[in-house]
Amino acid sequence: MTDRHVLGTPAGLDAARALMAFIDASPSPFHACASAAERLEAAGFRPLDEAAAWPSGPGAWYLRRGGSLVAWSVGPRHDATSGFRVVGAHTDSPNLRVKPRPDAGGHGFRQVAVEPYGGVLLNSWLDRDLGLSGRVTVRGADGPEERLLRVDEPLLRIPQLAIHLDREVTSKGLLLNAQQHLTPVWAAGSPQPGAFLTWVAARLGVPERDVLGWDLMLHDLTPSTLLGVDRSLLSAPRLDNLCSSWAGTEALAAVVDGGAEPAQIPVLVLFDHEEIGSSTDRGADSTLLPTVLERIVLAAGGGREELLRALAASVCCSADNAHATHPNYPDRHEPGHHIAVNGGPVLKVNSNVRYATDATSAAEFLLACERAGVPHQRYAHRADLPCGSTIGPITAARLGIPTFDVGVAQLAMHAARELCGADDPAHYAAAMAAFLAPEGP
Ligand code: ZN
Repeated sequence: MTDRHVLGTPAGLDAARALMAFIDASPSPFHACASAAERLEAAGFRPLDEAAAWPSGPGAWYLRRGGSLVAWSVGPRHDATSGFRVVGAHTDSPNLRVKPRPDAGGHGFRQVAVEPYGGVLLNSWLDRDLGLSGRVTVRGADGPEERLLRVDEPLLRIPQLAIHLDREVTSKGLLLNAQQHLTPVWAAGSPQPGAFLTWVAARLGVPERDVLGWDLMLHDLTPSTLLGVDRSLLSAPRLDNLCSSWAGTEALAAVVDGGAEPAQIPVLVLFDHEEIGSSTDRGADSTLLPTVLERIVLAAGGGREELLRALAASVCCSADNAHATHPNYPDRHEPGHHIAVNGGPVLKVNSNVRYATDATSAAEFLLACERAGVPHQRYAHRADLPCGSTIGPITAARLGIPTFDVGVAQLAMHAARELCGADDPAHYAAAMAAFLAPEGP
């Protein structure tokens, strides 16, 4: 495994275990940012406030905007025109989110009303013991305050209809209506208006009248685990895209931990809201990344000219998981582009630029894999199936910098539980570290 270990990024099993710990600690985008911030702080990064003046000179910094995070490290040799090497990923995953007036129920059950977020594989949420997490805004002495809430207890469950009551389920398949069939139960009894608010306030230890708003969501309680007779697979929720968020965080931390001084400024950006199109205050289509890059240039004493020169010297790695070839559905895959788990990071190419990769940016990825000593694969979607997309084309369009799309091969994308190879997280983090610091430690 030592040949896969570059710039201090964890190898093999260490990486798989670190990824599983990161995912289990991060049931919501807000928790994912907190997990990334904790790892970055351990590597010496310090938080910055967007509303405050930023320091000039060398330093490692990060800022958070809701469920998004940007981190970067300015070294002694960097100036306003150094440019950036950016790794981008997303913190959100499709799930079920609590409605504003959630108290529902009937027929002897109390229920919590939820709404699907993003492209959820709805069936995968049935018959699981579910916890609840996210953020709550509460009244503070100086105005609204944000509190994280994470309850890893079996609170909720969406029971499937018995097969005896749906005789067509085996012949015609399961059809789920998002409004009618996905409301989880959370107690026996009659609905009690206001009960959910009472529960949230009690969990936070605040009066009910001080709870001003929430972004709360459900999560699968089964811990992430290595899987298979030889434990060569990794079973976890939210691999799309906490696998990339973890790998990017590890890579940037490793570059700083290892004392590398890359010619360009290494940047990590973890966006919220990729799964719903990225057009929000903190998504990939927002001002977040362009603003941060501009302020890094301004803090280095540069102006508009230096910003444009810096962008012209920049490159971006858009990291988001890829589809492994499914053994039960090989016909859904492009036959000339077989993708294997544990085969190394996957370069994703689409002629219609649903992925941002082109010949120039692809070279950046291949050279990074070479430096890291990791294998790689190349993905193309079937030409007769619509292709998904990533933050790659959006980021490339907003900044005008060459971008490639890469990810770890996985199955069951957008299910409540996903599956990837146990060796790939180490490959992935190593390739990203080699991308961020091409000169090595
Ligand atoms: Zn994704």
